[in-house]
Amino acid sequence: MNTELLKPVSSLKGIGPKKSEYYKKLGIETVYDLLYHFPRRYIDFNDPVPIADAPRDEPCVIKATLVKKLSAAVVRSGLSIFKAVLTDGESDITLVMYNNKFGFDVLAVGHEYCLYGKVTGDLIRKEISSPLILDLSKGESVEPVYLMTDGLNQFALRQAVRNALVLLGGFIYEPLPKWVMKDYGLCSLSYALENIHFPKDMNTCANAKNRLVFDELLTLSLGMRLLKSRSREQSGCVMSEADISAFYSSLPFELTGAQKRAIGEVTADMCKQSPMNRLVQGDVGSGKTAVAAGAAYFAYLNGFQTAMMAPTEILATQHYETLSGFLEPLGVKCALLTGSLTPKKKAALKEQIAAGEYGVVVGTHALVQNSTRFKKLGLVITDEQHRFGVRQRAALSDKGENPHKLVMSATPIPRTLALMIYGDLDLSILDEMPKGRKKIETYAVTGKLRERAFGFVKGELDKGRQAYVVCPMIEESDSELISVKKYAQELSEGSFAGYNVGLLHGKLPPDKKEKVMRDFKDKKTDILVSTTVIEVGVDVPNATCMVIENADRFGLSQLHQLRGRVGRGEYSSYCILITDNVSEESRNRLKIMSKTSDGFVISEEDLKMRGPGDFFGARQHGLPKMKIADMSENIDILRQAQLCAEEILRRDEKLTAPENKGLRELIDKLLEEKLSEN
Ligand code: ADP
Ligand code: MG
Repeated sequence: MNTELLKPVSSLKGIGPKKSEYYKKLGIETVYDLLYHFPRRYIDFNDPVPIADAPRDEPCVIKATLVKKLSAAVVRSGLSIFKAVLTDGESDITLVMYNNKFGFDVLAVGHEYCLYGKVTGDLIRKEISSPLILDLSKGESVEPVYLMTDGLNQFALRQAVRNALVLLGGFIYEPLPKWVMKDYGLCSLSYALENIHFPKDMNTCANAKNRLVFDELLTLSLGMRLLKSRSREQSGCVMSEADISAFYSSLPFELTGAQKRAIGEVTADMCKQSPMNRLVQGDVGSGKTAVAAGAAYFAYLNGFQTAMMAPTEILATQHYETLSGFLEPLGVKCALLTGSLTPKKKAALKEQIAAGEYGVVVGTHALVQNSTRFKKLGLVITDEQHRFGVRQRAALSDKGENPHKLVMSATPIPRTLALMIYGDLDLSILDEMPKGRKKIETYAVTGKLRERAFGFVKGELDKGRQAYVVCPMIEESDSELISVKKYAQELSEGSFAGYNVGLLHGKLPPDKKEKVMRDFKDKKTDILVSTTVIEVGVDVPNATCMVIENADRFGLSQLHQLRGRVGRGEYSSYCILITDNVSEESRNRLKIMSKTSDGFVISEEDLKMRGPGDFFGARQHGLPKMKIADMSENIDILRQAQLCAEEILRRDEKLTAPENKGLRELIDKLLEEKLSEN
């Protein structure tokens, strides 16, 4: 990498300490950052509209010849107005500039200019004030627009970028090996950086962008792959074949083929010299916990302890109950480690865990990960890992004796995205549902039918079943909370008077949440009004109905997750989606929910209709932030980059060849941590 790239921006002409602070606000500290601060969009002066067709309220480009300069008017001291008349041959327009004598003086009668700005006025008199003006005789015709902050302007930023390119003396290092550029038809980095900032036309610009997007996605692909191979070091927990048929026969049901296959893959992994890094991905209800139990039993037979971590206490408790139900009859002692234990009990339990008295320990991430010592930890199982980042996954593998890692996720993710998000993990997919699962009948209705829907729900309650009512709470803000509370109260006094209504939301303290959930599980409440906190894996087989308010506010995948809370028992189950959004798009989206119950199909639809925002929302995936690549728009380049990454690592497994030095630097920069050399 050019050493100049790493210099602070203050090394550039015209940028002092004060300006540096402004640049810092844009995330720009070095020359490199500046060059990688790409324009958000471009104004294409090659694409003007006739003055007569100029849109209202929206800036546009017009091309016109200056006919006449009017004399300047000094309105008051400190404000002078300059005007000129231009024509595009059909219509005239008045150009207005304020306090810009210099800008006005350089304009010449008879010259043709491109103007970018908002056109105002009526059919007869049109006006454009303080537009961006381009002299066509100078040859530039595309103007970049940058994300800005107070204290800087477009012009200053452009000038700084120009100075940076000059500082580099027209030579920018080339991180890509020659064969990659050739095989994938990419321009040089030098060309790309010049033309992303100063494109001659939109074609050059697209070419430059293509290269930069490719770089970014290639770097990410390579980074993920290296993370994966890095964890291929010696495991301190190599296990050997063991007979787990006792586990199979003690289960109250026959495992599905997919579950057996997954357990087979997991146990085979744990017998290898390197630690397992495996993701079990399966739709809600596909039986991931049983796979986890099988893995834990295998570890137990090999004399190792298993830690299982869940994102919430409710889930930890539930997993504990399921796992101990499966495993204690086989002699595996299970412990539940939660924040609600008294300090004394907690300390005692931790001592027993350290002494190796428990084969399985279930708890929340914080508890298990940070402060608990194990006698002989061999397997770490994490539920709903998509909420945690790549870096956290890497950190976990750095721990202790390199235990095997099993990650469970119920979020079906379209394959291309999964490859990226989980590129550092091996994948087992549970694509088969346990036998006898009934389809959840799903209906979408408008608010007018709400009372009828509630009538239906009452019918179920009177049969002894239970129901969920879900309200979206987008911001988890206090005002939204009030409306959810009010809603719950209205239900318990109105439509559902005489039934017990519980309320669950994210702002409740953990022990209160626990109690609300417990009451619902124990049938003390009939209806649970809830925000989306129930999304993650709560199991109440007696609940057969779910009503979702404002259903159009949710992504399809999220609706699917929610819906998976019902239909977990022997009874027929129902999901009623209420929305007053009658747009065709909304109707079509919700129709998909009634048509299919396959989470992968639904996630593909979601990707098509809404883009990957739902999967990448709130950066839950934990991937590093992209500067220019957009996973939904650039799916094709993503595929190319993945192919290319594979090829590069096939030639140079550890990326240590001199020709790949530049790529390695990019990866280190992206992951902000040095990947170890082995
Ligand atoms: P998820 O994949 O959503 O975590 P769970 O592991 O919670 O699913 O399983 C959902 C329910 O299905 C549980 O009650 C579980 O006991 C049951 N189950 C799991 N596997 C099977 C199977 N092969 N046959 C029947 N029921 C099963
Ligand atoms: Mg689960």
